[in-house]
Parts: sequence; structure tokens; C-alpha cells
Amino acid sequence: MSNNSPFENPEELQQWYQGLKDANRNNIFCHCRACGYEWMDSKFDATCTQCNSQNVETISSWQFPDD
Ligand SMILES: [Zn+2]
Repeated sequence: MSNNSPFENPEELQQWYQGLKDANRNNIFCHCRACGYEWMDSKFDATCTQCNSQNVETISSWQFPDD
């Protein structure tokens, strides 16, 4: 086990990862650089639903500051 890991054991890592996935469910802001379309998706490798471009910028909404 590497000392670089902040987690004590694999189960803890799995829980953290699952929580991260839950937090990202339809919570990722996507912006198509090709056509400018913007939408919310649940994955970071989203494809633009308007022009099928994969040149998509993705930002987790929990990275935005609360207003
Ligand atoms: Zn597009």
C-alpha cells in the first residue's frame, strides 16, 4: 500500500469513488466547442447531442462555487 494514498483500504477508496460518481450524475456541465451547445450530462467523455462533436469541454458542477 502506497503512502501516497489518502485512503486506508480499497473499500474506502471504492466508497469515495462511488460517491464521486453519484455526485456527477447529470451534474457535469458540458460545452461543445464546435457548435456552442451547452447541456448537463453524467459523463466526462460526452459527445455533443447537437453536432456529434467530441470536442466537448466538461466541468463538474460541484466545482462551481455556491452562490
Ligand atoms: Zn456541438
